[in-house]
Amino acid sequence: MSRVPATNLQLKNDSRIGVVGGGPAGSFFALHVLRFAAQKKLRLHVTIFEGRDFSRAGPVGCAKCAGLLSAGAQRHLKTLNLTLPSEIIQSTADSYVLHMAGGTVEIFPPHHNRKIISVYRGRGPRLSPLSESVNFDEWLLHQAEQAGACIKFCAVTAITAGPHPAVHTGQTGYHFDLIVLACGINGRRIQFNGFDYHPPQTKMMIQDELAQLPGQNRRIHVYFGRRRGIIFGATVPKGNFTNISLLTTDDRPSLKTVDRFLAESRAGGQTQRLCGCKPHIAVSRAQGYFADHFVAIGDAAATRLYKDGIGSAARTAERAAYTAVYSGIGAANFRRRYVPLCRRIALDNFFGRLLFASWEMTNRLPWLTHLWLHALNAVGGRLHSADRCRLALWNMFTGDDSYRHIFFSLLHPGVVGLLLTVGWRLRRGQPEIKKVGETGEHIQ
Ligand SMILES: Cc1cc2nc3c(=O)[nH]c(=O)nc-3n(C[C@H](O)[C@H](O)[C@H](O)COP(=O)(O)OP(=O)(O)OC[C@H]3O[C@@H](n4cnc5c(N)ncnc54)[C@H](O)[C@@H]3O)c2cc1C
Repeated sequence: MSRVPATNLQLKNDSRIGVVGGGPAGSFFALHVLRFAAQKKLRLHVTIFEGRDFSRAGPVGCAKCAGLLSAGAQRHLKTLNLTLPSEIIQSTADSYVLHMAGGTVEIFPPHHNRKIISVYRGRGPRLSPLSESVNFDEWLLHQAEQAGACIKFCAVTAITAGPHPAVHTGQTGYHFDLIVLACGINGRRIQFNGFDYHPPQTKMMIQDELAQLPGQNRRIHVYFGRRRGIIFGATVPKGNFTNISLLTTDDRPSLKTVDRFLAESRAGGQTQRLCGCKPHIAVSRAQGYFADHFVAIGDAAATRLYKDGIGSAARTAERAAYTAVYSGIGAANFRRRYVPLCRRIALDNFFGRLLFASWEMTNRLPWLTHLWLHALNAVGGRLHSADRCRLALWNMFTGDDSYRHIFFSLLHPGVVGLLLTVGWRLRRGQPEIKKVGETGEHIQ
């Protein structure tokens, strides 16, 4: 990438950057911008405004997320020389168990070194708080502080445009050379004066936490298609607890849906609900997310559909920081260097939408569900193609690969051949293809 400035709006020594939001996007931005500035021997002053009270358990101090860290997000921490302390890591799961109308299939990681890590984005469940040291967001924010950022724990109420745009917290205004909007989509309302920023469209989800369900501490369960009104449900092990996340067909779902889900999925042994929240998830790109002296990152700009929001926050943060330091802080700089990444994310989400729609259709048609379950469970003859299917689903659940790549990998002639073979055998009532587990093998 050439480093020729597209405008004369540049960061200089002692330039001031205000970051609104101290979630993953805000902290990653601060870490990257200070790293790039050090490379360029530039002295910057970075202030992060964070409105959450990390000392409180439950939704008030939490980012309301299942807390899975994709391989990409984990790699990103490594590029910043950051190692997650063991107390932050709540669980390391070995597999995903996919539940569909006609049966289940367990999907294992394609490589031993691909781990699924879960973390808390707050202090744990409201009715069963954990120690302060488990909070991933607080830890990451602390890393940004140690790298030189100044943290102000207060809510931002308004942002005003201008050559030195201002961040307002109640009565106080702070002027900066660049404002970075990293407030996500679940925070307090911010008034935008002089900016044409429109946040992404969202859908409401439901979350809760239960005491650990028996036998679930190393598996993530994903549920499709069975339960009325629930498009997608997942249970994620987190230390002594299990997180439940549900996406429903209802625009304003009720927390009672969790009870129905538990009863119908029989996922629950212990069913006392310990937390409960209804966070939004972003399903489109924001509008007006860059301008002179202004850029939005993370959920506030563009994120992957239903997956790897933390990884997307890290990627957008890094690209925006690179642009600001090496290209400039004008709208033209962001359009040229930063927008292509957000467009790529949005385009990839188009393939994500196709995949989720096809998957939903599969779950509505019993014969198709049956076919897929047999194909996913197959070992032997067309093993390579069955592996391809399992890898595609693994990547779809974890967010480890782009939706576009997953989509085209499922159109591979080998996969089509496998489905045709399985369909033909099922139709002729031939003995089932051997299943994963029966031979003691699984994909590695
Ligand atoms: C139910 C659910 C489950 C999810 N599961 C996963 C998962 O398992 N893995 C994954 O990678 N992603 C997951 N996501 C997505 C993930 O939560 C987001 O993509 C990610 O948190 C985005 O990071 P961010 O920093 O952009 O925003 P956020 O994490 O929302 O951080 C924004 C920060 O800004 C602060 N803030 C907001 N407004 C203000 C204000 N006015 N003043 C001051 N501070 C403010 C907030 O307090 C917060 O700390 C899930 C989302 C949902 C809804």
